[in-house]
Parts: sequence; C-alpha cells; structure tokens
Amino acid sequence: MKAIIYKGLRSIALEERPEPKLSRPDDVLVRVAATGICGTDRNIYLGNFRAEEGVILGHESVGEVAAVGSAVKGVMPGDRVAVNPTLYCGACEFCRRGELNFCDNKAGTEVGVDRDGTFANYVVLSERFLHKLPPGLGFERAVLVEPLACVLNNVEAAELRPEDDVVILGAGPIGMVWALLAKKVARRVTMVESSPFRRNFASRHLEYVVDAEAPNVVADVVACNGGRKPRVVVDTTGVALERSLELVSKGGRVVLMGFNAGYQATIHPLTLVGQGIRIIGAGDYNSHIFPAAIELAATLPLEGLVTHQLPLEDYEKAFGLLVGGAQYSEYGAMKVVLRSV
Ligand SMILES: [Zn+2]
Ligand SMILES: [Zn+2]
Repeated sequence: MKAIIYKGLRSIALEERPEPKLSRPDDVLVRVAATGICGTDRNIYLGNFRAEEGVILGHESVGEVAAVGSAVKGVMPGDRVAVNPTLYCGACEFCRRGELNFCDNKAGTEVGVDRDGTFANYVVLSERFLHKLPPGLGFERAVLVEPLACVLNNVEAAELRPEDDVVILGAGPIGMVWALLAKKVARRVTMVESSPFRRNFASRHLEYVVDAEAPNVVADVVACNGGRKPRVVVDTTGVALERSLELVSKGGRVVLMGFNAGYQATIHPLTLVGQGIRIIGAGDYNSHIFPAAIELAATLPLEGLVTHQLPLEDYEKAFGLLVGGAQYSEYGAMKVVLRSV
C-alpha cells in the first residue's frame, strides 16, 4: 500500500509499505478513506513536535472496516468508523480514573506520531479505538470529528457558560471549531489571527475578527468585545500565553490548546492570585467524548472548514499549503484533507 513516511526534519516521502495484518483477536483492519492534516503533523514536519523517524504519519481519520479479528463484536466489515488515535492502555492509574488522555503507557502508542498512522490505504487498530459513524454523517464532515473531540474536551474543562465572552487566538482549524462551538454557547466570540487568508476565512463565520499583528491588539479586542476584556481566552497557537494573560478579564480563564515544544513563557504569579485568573490545560480527549463529538457533528457544518482535498500522491502540495512561505507563518489553506481512496 501507499503511505506517507516521516523521514526526519522537514522531510516526508510517499513510500510503498506492506498492508498491516490483523494480529490480535480484537484487531480491526480499516480501509482509510480520508485523513486531515493536523497542526501536529505540520509541527512534526517543522521540528516543533517529536515523532518517530520512519513512522507513517496521520491521525485525524475516517474509513471503512475491511476485516475484523475473532473477538471483535462492535463493528463489522462495511461499517464506517472514526479513529481515536490516542491509544490508552486501560490499566494504569490514570486510565482507571477515566483520565485516558493522560495514560502512563501512551508513549509509543500515539497513532501517526510514534506508531504507524493513517496517511496510508490501511491501518490496523484495536476495536475500542474505533467509533461507528451514523448513516447520515458523511466522511467529509466526520474527518473533523477527532479535532472536534479535542475542542469539546477543552470546552468542558473551560466550563463555558452563556455569560462568557470568548476570544480565540489563532484561526486555524482548531480555532475555527472552537469558534463554531462557542457561538452556540457564549454571548460573543472574537477571533484574533495574523494570517490575512485565515482572517478572511474566519470573517465568513464570525462578526468579530482582529489582526494579531495590529499595533494595539488588546484595545482592538476590547473594542470588539463590547468594551470589556473577555472572560475566556483560548490560545490555539501554542505560543501566546503571555498575550492571553494580557487579554483576559479579572476572574477569567485562559485555555491552552496549541502544541509548541519550543515555547516558554514568563508569567507573574501574583497576577493570577490577585486577579483570580485560571490557566487551563486539558490535553486532547477522553474516548468518552468521541460519541458526543460524533452526535454534535450532525449540527455543525464542519466540512465548510475543509479548503483542500487531495490524494495521498499530492502530499507535497498538501503539506506545502500548510507550511507556507519563508517565515512558515502564511497559510493558503484551512483544513487540508488527504484522501486514501
Ligand atoms: Zn491532530
Ligand atoms: Zn493507561
């Protein structure tokens, strides 16, 4: 089969790999239909996130069950499924608490990071990491169920309420999924983004969009937000904790969702103490969120975030759309999806 392999810093390649085989009774062979390129894939490519050299990348995936092991009960060949790529062990202290995303034995089992992923024709996973899609939910929308599950977990951790106003830093796909969800709950949503392409995209869905490079972003945000600082600031860029703390109101919450291993921030703890500000990190998701994400997807026009769908063979173009120009900051795309069939 064809697969996109991580070869090292800024190097990926389409290679021929053997089709994976069922090896355990609870294994399921999935014929991959489509996989979204995630900010994590981009960060792996750029060296901001560690991945195993030689691994097949890809984790935001949907497909069709092709074959099942002898003990599989929940799915059968022909079923359409979404993949939960965070392979928890189910036995460690954190898993027993239900905090599956903090599983002690997760290292070595992250699909498309340190274990073969879904930018390929097939993938084998244990049945418990697959979630059946209802008949009305097409692959085009369901390919965003995994990022939606991530966002849902963070929305839950942020205890988002109707009286909240939300400012989102970064109008990438995660920021846009946050915006679509927050619009359903919160009184006002403002997006802050540096890329003109993404500001323009965001403004099709949101009334309030601010340029992150403007000389006085805090004043611009306050102006958009009815003259107040927002109660909730979400940093999806992974590099804006300091900016988030400048923006958030007294008594507010800052939610951190971006991944950037190279970023460090200076904070003044007294600000948090004196102003009652909470900084929230919630990780990705627990598998119990997945069924909720699948049901919620029915009410969210997620496929509208997909700007490009390309076959695996066009991986260079696909990654190029997200890696952008010389500064690696300009985008020409929102969600880019690689089709495996
Ligand atoms: Zn991802
Ligand atoms: Zn565990």
